[in-house]
Amino acid sequence: MKYIGAHVSALGGVDRAIERASEIEATALALFVKNQRKWFTPPLTTEKIESFRFICEKKKFNPSQIMPHSSYLINLGHPTREGLKKSRDSFVDEVMRCQQLGLKLINFHPGSHLQQIQEKNCLARISESINIVLDRTQGITLVLENTAGQGSNLGFDFEHLADIIDAVEDKSRVGVCIDTCHAFSAGYDLRTKTSCVKTFLDFDRIVGLHYLRGIHLNDSKNELGSRIDRHESLGKGKIGQVVFSWLMQDSRFNRIPMILETANPALWKNEISWLKSEQQSTGKNEIL
Ligand SMILES: [Zn+2]
Ligand SMILES: [Zn+2]
Repeated sequence: MKYIGAHVSALGGVDRAIERASEIEATALALFVKNQRKWFTPPLTTEKIESFRFICEKKKFNPSQIMPHSSYLINLGHPTREGLKKSRDSFVDEVMRCQQLGLKLINFHPGSHLQQIQEKNCLARISESINIVLDRTQGITLVLENTAGQGSNLGFDFEHLADIIDAVEDKSRVGVCIDTCHAFSAGYDLRTKTSCVKTFLDFDRIVGLHYLRGIHLNDSKNELGSRIDRHESLGKGKIGQVVFSWLMQDSRFNRIPMILETANPALWKNEISWLKSEQQSTGKNEIL
């Protein structure tokens, strides 16, 4: 059983995101639990929280199928004291919103050194941030996303993720989300079945497949190892469709949110329908 969906808009409120996911026949979704361009926003109202819970039940989404994405402003490895404090406070606020909504996962980008501190120092700050946020919240698993390694973003190398997790005290509340575009841009090949097997073997050896809590399904506009983060629709980029069929047919990826963040939302419904069909197919069907 695969949970397949997209990162839908929460314009008009978090409850609207569930309706949008339902409209494209998704069985998973990502959303922002507050305006992602702001550090702090007014709290969720009781009405919004109740409406969200009600509509999740009505449209048959359980917390395992929903993985919110945190704001891009947050940098848990920030080189300055003020930047770090603001990021941690803002992230705690987001995790608490997830708690209020009855969710259990939140996905975030590890952090950036901004050319001001050493990579090692930045990774240690990220682990420390995770420990602090876990201490101040309950019941939510913090899901690190691998990055493309653009600019000074860390988390593009599986070793970074392993190092961060290694210094987390409560490992039961930390996980990883693999973004296929980011992995490919960071130099992990996914163009053939053989390369998919190798990349996920590397992930299992370095991080551990048991930490995998979600997958972002994106093709890439740029070449292998480009370190540029530009998503493309499935089968239309430099990765091609093989990896997406391969993921659909492997039971190790059952029951975790698999989320499209592809370039054209108008295609999501068709992409979801194709992904669902690939679960049973021989992998030879052309997408769209
Ligand atoms: Zn992301
Ligand atoms: Zn992603």
